[in-house]
Amino acid sequence: MAFLTLTNIQKSFGLVQVVHNFNMGIEKGEFVSFLGPSGCGKTTILRMIAGFETPSGGSVVINGKDQGALKPNQRNIGMVFQAYALFPNMNVHDNVAFGLKVAGASKTDIDIRVKQMLGLIKLEHLADRFPYQLSGGQQQRVALARALAVKPQVLLLDEPLSALDAKIRISLREEIRQIQQQLGITTVFVTHDQEEALSISDRIVVMNAGRADQIGTPFEIYNTPATRFVASFVGTLNIIEGKVADPATGAVTIGGQRIALKEPIAGLKGGDSISLALRPEAASIAEGSKGDTSLPGEVVSTSFLGSVIRTKLRVGDDVISFDMFNDPGITPPVAGENVSLRFAAKDLLVIRE
Ligand code: ATP
Repeated sequence: MAFLTLTNIQKSFGLVQVVHNFNMGIEKGEFVSFLGPSGCGKTTILRMIAGFETPSGGSVVINGKDQGALKPNQRNIGMVFQAYALFPNMNVHDNVAFGLKVAGASKTDIDIRVKQMLGLIKLEHLADRFPYQLSGGQQQRVALARALAVKPQVLLLDEPLSALDAKIRISLREEIRQIQQQLGITTVFVTHDQEEALSISDRIVVMNAGRADQIGTPFEIYNTPATRFVASFVGTLNIIEGKVADPATGAVTIGGQRIALKEPIAGLKGGDSISLALRPEAASIAEGSKGDTSLPGEVVSTSFLGSVIRTKLRVGDDVISFDMFNDPGITPPVAGENVSLRFAAKDLLVIRE
């Protein structure tokens, strides 16, 4: 059994079910992110692990112990929220010491541990400051130190970076990951920011309307999205609509042109609609660019978005939209121009609904 095991977890508020039969085992020391849009149920799952919400069904087991009968303060869990939630009337030292004091630790032990924690977040020099004298990023580091001071068995982070500006968000997420690895603490992180999840997680759970659409490493989630939702939420993937030509050999048509995929297409028949994903880095219209497939078409429109050029291309009777990376060999195409979209057929991924 995994260190943190969620079995058939469900949650309804009144008649509305917001989490459907969720199952997952999280290993000791693993960093798992729950990623999804607002309202998909990720915070509710975190709150059920913490004990702030009672599941309508299913169980939360940590280190072999069913948590069902335990109150939040009996679960030995550290939690950091989006709003800094420090005690405003206590200085940094006392904020970090709070949980240790409640647990009845001696003054000497508290001082040693607080010093250790402030060293970990590199804020020893601010021990006497009050929360209002700290930046947002510093407050979140203190919140992290406070959560970790009591040596929790699991660390839960609920969008801890959302209220910070972009630069601090990136440096603090790296710091969180580094501290998490240094301590080897099992961590569950909730975010709606795909880049954040991709950059710091061992595994990501992509949530869609109360269900996990996919659970996998950042690499798997990005490269082989299991559903259309995952592809569109996580990636900069292009989704191209086509038709199945021959499922047995894996042939499709896009804009009337036949393309052989790398493998047969299970579960669909000839003539069915099919969605295919193509990563921007695998698509190009540059002359001489690599790829065994080329789709000739007429440019309908383009927009230059900095790192990518977004182009709509009429191919046969279809209009396909795609982003390609703005690499040095490229002159942005203009409307009315005839170009060919080049790629390797093996880079086309079949996307499930
Ligand atoms: P966000 O990023 O906006 O917090 P989320 O994915 O974390 O979104 P949850 O907070 O888990 O979503 O909420 C899931 C659904 O459950 C939402 O539709 C929300 O309105 C509903 N919900 C959450 N808490 C309650 C509650 N106490 N009573 C009724 N409905 C609730």
